[in-house]
Amino acid sequence: MQQTIDTSELARTGSELHGEYPLAQLQRLGSLLADGDGSLAWRLRGWRERAVDGTVQDFMALSIAATVRMTCVRCNAPVAVELSAERAYRLVRSEADAERLDLDDQQYDVLGGGRRFDLAGLVEDEAIMALPAMPRHERCELPAAAATAAGAATPGAEAERTRPFAALGRLRNGAQNTDIIED
Ligand SMILES: [Zn+2]
Repeated sequence: MQQTIDTSELARTGSELHGEYPLAQLQRLGSLLADGDGSLAWRLRGWRERAVDGTVQDFMALSIAATVRMTCVRCNAPVAVELSAERAYRLVRSEADAERLDLDDQQYDVLGGGRRFDLAGLVEDEAIMALPAMPRHERCELPAAAATAAGAATPGAEAERTRPFAALGRLRNGAQNTDIIED
């Protein structure tokens, strides 16, 4: 998945963008999921703040939401997981600046912005970080339990009860025929 944005332009214009990425096209995230069904919705908003000394600072906020399927750690069957995350970032000129400044900033994650900022990569990173470490069902549906539930359904149970009598009927007819031949 490829989508780049100009973070400076986003912040300057105070724009809001939104979209959806098919999960099947997010390979790093997809490698952690049970299947690639569904999509990841995202919304991005930018803004610029001007300090009293005249310097400007760019920001953006990202929210993501998706329903994904992972493999249950208890029963290995797929389990639906609701993913959502909201993050706010302070944008600086380079990745090197971002790494240096990120340690100081308690309120924002610091990101290196740019004219060709990898938005799809950021959305995918946030989705990966939002995944539960131990995905599992609240109550695992074991295969044996599922089979019992299916057998208890009315039509199947009816068939089980009537079949022995039908077989007995066929046996009697067969016996009578045999008797007739013997006579
Ligand atoms: Zn399970």
